[in-house]
Amino acid sequence: MAEATGGASGVAFDTDEETRLIQQSLDDFVEQEVAPIADELGETLTNPRLGHEPDGRLTDEVIEAIQEVRQKSAEAGFYAMNLPEDVGGENVSTVTWYQANKHLASKGTPLTEQVLAGPEGPKPLLAQAEGGQIERYLDPVVRAEKSTGFGQTEPSVGSDSPNMATRAERDGDEWVLNGTKQWITNAPYADFLQVFARTTPQEEAGRYGGITCFLIEADEYDIGTLNNAVGSEGLQAEVHFDNVRLSDGRVLGEVDNAFYEAMGFLSLGRVEIGAQAIGNTEWLLDQAIEYANEREAFGRPIGEFQGVSHKIAEGRAKAYAADAAGLRCAWTIDQGEQAIADSSVLKWFATNTFWEVADDVVQIHGGNGLAEENGLMDRLHEARIFRIVEGTDEIQLNTIAGQEGLGQ
Ligand SMILES: Cc1cc2nc3c(=O)[nH]c(=O)nc-3n(C[C@H](O)[C@H](O)[C@H](O)COP(=O)(O)OP(=O)(O)OC[C@H]3O[C@@H](n4cnc5c(N)ncnc54)[C@H](O)[C@@H]3O)c2cc1C
Repeated sequence: MAEATGGASGVAFDTDEETRLIQQSLDDFVEQEVAPIADELGETLTNPRLGHEPDGRLTDEVIEAIQEVRQKSAEAGFYAMNLPEDVGGENVSTVTWYQANKHLASKGTPLTEQVLAGPEGPKPLLAQAEGGQIERYLDPVVRAEKSTGFGQTEPSVGSDSPNMATRAERDGDEWVLNGTKQWITNAPYADFLQVFARTTPQEEAGRYGGITCFLIEADEYDIGTLNNAVGSEGLQAEVHFDNVRLSDGRVLGEVDNAFYEAMGFLSLGRVEIGAQAIGNTEWLLDQAIEYANEREAFGRPIGEFQGVSHKIAEGRAKAYAADAAGLRCAWTIDQGEQAIADSSVLKWFATNTFWEVADDVVQIHGGNGLAEENGLMDRLHEARIFRIVEGTDEIQLNTIAGQEGLGQ
């Protein structure tokens, strides 16, 4: 883990000018562009019974609202802000991007999660696009005119992804790809997917070698069952690839090297999810404080009972520590380091904090905590998802233990 420096070249904890300006413009953007779209759709956005077709997919109305937010965000320069300028981004620092993610998540406004690109949008892996791939895949995704997804997990393999069964074999000048992925975010709505397949056996290429990433268009694969996670309904699906023929122009990055390329960006995914976990935690604590002050029991506001106030105080303390871990991790990445253990610490601690605080804040609201319309149970479900995706709790702890020279 990186050591914090002291003295004249020490760590600064104030928010720099770039971050402050971006936070202000994000506030304006959410108020003027996002909130009106969210208000118009109302409960349709937050209630799975209203925003989904009978087959589980999101309704066209919801998809259009999501696309509108992404496109407006791209026009305003937010969507791909952390990517380099030469691929259409704004090249903001990881610290600024971390702060922007956290700030948006703390607002509690529906659809704000669409403002900064998620798995459907431009990510560093896709920024490796070359030649004709730039115009066909990267540029339209940066402009939010097309959307994508990232296919690694399979029915029999998740954490142990190098053991994937999906294969691409050479046949003449082409690759022939076969396999099934599952839990692929945005798959039902994507224009193309970035799909990982084994191209050289493990015995020859080693555990992490021999895996290649392919760009595969929507009319070349079949969508199977929707994988409806509670709290993320309609967004993930199984994808089947049946003898998909692909030219060399569909290889993203280098043949046999995709796993190493993806590992180079692993920490960024954990910074992103950590920031969103902390922003959500702050929103939850704000809800709890307001409720604890106004709800009365036994003749006084419930916030006067230590059983309630300590839950909020513990949540604040954990959110504070998680944010310190987030800032340090983002800063470490900005120093050019991979921050593998730092990002595991952040991801594990921030998502567990989110989970624990969400549970406490539901409890503080009593029966009202369970009501659909106040969004608290939605946060609890989201926190549960955050502890599984981008590497489960156990995988983060394995990484930290490994850095300490311990077995996993
Ligand atoms: C909402 C959602 C969105 C997702 N989006 C995507 C996506 O866009 N693209 C994509 O490719 N995947 C996606 N996933 C899949 C996600 O990345 C996997 O679910 C995750 O990596 C865990 O894999 P698994 O579910 O196969 O669990 P497994 O790997 O089978 O793990 C099962 C349990 O065993 C534990 N375990 C496994 N190995 C070890 C070990 N060595 N030590 C200790 N414990 C261990 C795990 O921590 C877990 O508790 C998504 C999943 C969800 C729920």
